Amino acid sequence: MQMRGSEFIQRFNQYCPEWLAEEGDPIGLHIGTLNKEVDRIMMSLDVRPAVVAEAIDKKIDLLIVKHPPIFRPVSRLTTDDVQTKMYADLIKHDIAVFAAHTNMDIIENGLNDWFCDALDVLDTKYLIHTHTVKMKKLAVYVPHTDAKKMRQVLAEAGAGEQGDYQATSFTVNGTGRFTPNSEANPTIGSANVPEQVQESKIEVIFPETKQAEIEAAMLTAHPYEEPAYDIYPLDNLAENYGIGRVGNLAKAIPTDEFIAKVKATFQLEGLRVVYPHTAKKMIKRVAICGGSGEKFYRDALAANADVYITGDVYYHTAHDMQETGMLVIDPGHYIESLCKEKMVALFEQWKNEEDWTVDFFVSETSTNPFSFK
Ligand SMILES: [Zn+2]
Repeated sequence: MQMRGSEFIQRFNQYCPEWLAEEGDPIGLHIGTLNKEVDRIMMSLDVRPAVVAEAIDKKIDLLIVKHPPIFRPVSRLTTDDVQTKMYADLIKHDIAVFAAHTNMDIIENGLNDWFCDALDVLDTKYLIHTHTVKMKKLAVYVPHTDAKKMRQVLAEAGAGEQGDYQATSFTVNGTGRFTPNSEANPTIGSANVPEQVQESKIEVIFPETKQAEIEAAMLTAHPYEEPAYDIYPLDNLAENYGIGRVGNLAKAIPTDEFIAKVKATFQLEGLRVVYPHTAKKMIKRVAICGGSGEKFYRDALAANADVYITGDVYYHTAHDMQETGMLVIDPGHYIESLCKEKMVALFEQWKNEEDWTVDFFVSETSTNPFSFK
């Protein structure tokens, strides 16, 4: 089945919603349009001239990236400047560019979870809280004979998910009473005649972020001209999200062995280590935040981490870190390139589910500016 760019991004956003990004993060569509058919989609960490050349060569229609390419406002679109020439080349070849950045770091089963999986870090939770999504409850009244269908529609729209349980609901049966006036066009009953119907009240919970689609699904499925329903906020239930992860190794391992494990896992030529003056001999509790997470090192300390793994550590911050007793490993920002294969594996899964005919590509270009000599 031919697919439009907007259709792919709709599926992408279900997994990695834009509202999960940090405030001011310029995610989303950066270049081109999603209002076109797409046959070839490529995943890259960055947009660099070599990536653009690869995309042109592979006849890519849509490029998905972790790092938003237009991070600062563009004041000129000249092709003599390397950065803006990339934008012009992408437009010239009708290659759309879409970025998911901090939302990919925060989402469950996202990049920081993949890092934990790669390093055998278990029992993980987020390191820094970023978002709370409140839960709401919908109570809808339908004729008894429509209750089963309504429960199904609500579950398909994503209502009733609670922990490891799906399609949860509560139904109570009762009597609905109404009198249609002469303007009404009632599904059941006649104008000006008091009516009573055996009705079911169905209650489901849902996150507030899904309200629009759940309400729309309910209204479409409801047989009545004027559906009766209530939506109310819940004080006792919420979903929390955060950036970075902290968890434990199955058993403590010597510090140098853990450093070697990080190096081998991410196939690094080298990495930087900030040894504390009072270095621990064993590592059990691991905190990690991909990208540039040095500003969160106190959160890693507060979470009792033996080691904090993050990129782009600054010299003076490293001095502060060294006094804490916590080991810090800086494997570089480029370990985030793990997202390329992981995302494309997800894309392939969606392709099977949705019966798309699109081809996906993992960018083969290394965009790591650093090397070790
Ligand atoms: Zn990054």
